[in-house]
Amino acid sequence: MLKMNEKDDVSVKKMAELLRRGATMLAESCPQCGSPLFKVGDDIYCAKCDRRIVYAKSDQEIETQAVKTLIPELRVTLIGKLKALNELVESENDIEKLTRVANLMVLLLQSLHHLEDMRE
Ligand SMILES: [Zn+2]
Repeated sequence: MLKMNEKDDVSVKKMAELLRRGATMLAESCPQCGSPLFKVGDDIYCAKCDRRIVYAKSDQEIETQAVKTLIPELRVTLIGKLKALNELVESENDIEKLTRVANLMVLLLQSLHHLEDMRE
């Protein structure tokens, strides 16, 4: 076993103290330092970091939230692009180019439609 440094020694003492105070050791470990977490009453505590751990929302919740805040921006961007493509279609006479632009418009419209669905 590795020789414990002073900080580890302190945290071990704290852990022992927590256990004495009736804390329970959890299966989860601290997201910051990886040492075991303790449940003290309703609080989750890391002895090594010497702080209370407040569980943030799950990654998925954060992701969903981030996407949701992005939706209005994405809508504006997509609509802006569609307007630009609309002008392009008006001035473009090359069938091949028109086909490409039309395909792109369909893609953008589909994206826009998906965004509307995501708004709930
Ligand atoms: Zn920690």
